Amino acid sequence: MADSPVTDLRSALELLEKHPGQLLTTNVAVDPMAELSGVYRYVGAGGTVMRPTKTGPAMMFTNIQGYDDARVVIGMLACRKRVAMLLGTTPENLGKYVCQALETPVAPVMVAKEDAACQDVVHLATDPGFDLRRLIPAPTNTPEDAGPYITMGLCYGADPETGVEDVTIHRLCVQGADEISMYFVPGRHLDAFRMKAEKAGKPQPISINIGLDPAVYIASCFEAPSTPLGFNELSIAGSLRGKPVEMVRCVSVGAKAVANAEIVIEGELLPNVRVAEDQFSKTGKAMPEFPGYSGPAKPELPVIKVKAVTHRVRPIMQTCIGPSEEHVNLAGIPTEASIITMVNRALPGLLQNVYAHPCGGGKYVAVLQVKKSAPPDEGRQRQAALLAFSAFSELKHVILVDEDVDPFDSNDVMWAMTTRFQADVDVICIPGVRCHPLDPSQSPEMSPSIRAGGIACKAIFDCTVPLDQKARFKRAQFKEVDYTRFLNG
Ligand code: MN
Repeated sequence: MADSPVTDLRSALELLEKHPGQLLTTNVAVDPMAELSGVYRYVGAGGTVMRPTKTGPAMMFTNIQGYDDARVVIGMLACRKRVAMLLGTTPENLGKYVCQALETPVAPVMVAKEDAACQDVVHLATDPGFDLRRLIPAPTNTPEDAGPYITMGLCYGADPETGVEDVTIHRLCVQGADEISMYFVPGRHLDAFRMKAEKAGKPQPISINIGLDPAVYIASCFEAPSTPLGFNELSIAGSLRGKPVEMVRCVSVGAKAVANAEIVIEGELLPNVRVAEDQFSKTGKAMPEFPGYSGPAKPELPVIKVKAVTHRVRPIMQTCIGPSEEHVNLAGIPTEASIITMVNRALPGLLQNVYAHPCGGGKYVAVLQVKKSAPPDEGRQRQAALLAFSAFSELKHVILVDEDVDPFDSNDVMWAMTTRFQADVDVICIPGVRCHPLDPSQSPEMSPSIRAGGIACKAIFDCTVPLDQKARFKRAQFKEVDYTRFLNG
């Protein structure tokens, strides 16, 4: 895991430049308001984005309308093959690879200000004419977004009482020259810190780190129970790289920042202050979320008062499309690693691989590939599915397939669901369980068993063959040949 050539966003971009078809650069002037995402939707967004879209290269825009010398990169992680390349493994092995890192964390270290590129240029909010909106080309995804969003902002905070640290990516909407609203899905660790500070009547210091090593972004997307409160997710990134993540003290608030970030926004979450997410645009919508829909703007969100913006020389703004394949990888790879850790602990040897399928944005659907070796393994595949729900509570559907089915090949998974599955006995419904609020089907209008949004039905689709009937389900066997000598003849 050590000796990766990738240590920050710039070295990640250099690696992509060596691989044809992984990075597309354009000098054509682009409007960051809806146009940039409108372009990338066709070029490389994928995921749950409206069709037509496709998985494609990352894209660098070097001419941003209204900004001198700004650059925006989108879709760095919007392709599983690219993520594997950036982390130094294969697409099929990503879940297992990140799982190893989860088990061998390497804590971050502090570096001096002189060694922190993210503080090469410092703008204090007290400087005359300070305006966050002029410094950072935050885009909108669609014309009806509540406002410009920072979508790849890694938020760092520490518990005001115990000092334990946490990082997560949050929905951050720029609300003014020095204000940003922040949306927390219930239960997030940074929100627990914020609530503690608020109870004491104090602001919660925070840093928003933009433009990072892909390993840092992936690691930050782990959630409890894999990374319980007090587990600094940056230590997983340290393990992935075989080298601790370097942090630096913020210049204006009592927080830390990722030393080689392109851009850092420093600020404080204010106690007892709330704003409507769409207070200026009045669109009623927030932004496109990973399930593929634009969620409603929230009426009351906590506010970050910005104290400073620091950045590298000629910083690169990094962004993503909410429902793109980028979210699938960011959320899905930690989901896979969490499921592998949990199932292997309880049922060693059964689970072969896991794929957090793009249809669920990496959070709602997992395909579990299992291998039943002996009669006692019959039924354990369903136990593995129950464990997967425990490993990742936002999971809605688990699809179980045998070892001869490729979990990453949707055609093959649907083949198993067609020829190895009987709906009346192979669907296991678990109603009335807490799932996730952003799935519009998880609402009382959809089912009498749903008492409130997000308390919905989880389901297992068991597409495995009963072990005692395996002989009837042997796939047609082809002659093993050296096909390669026919390709150039
Ligand atoms: Mn956490």
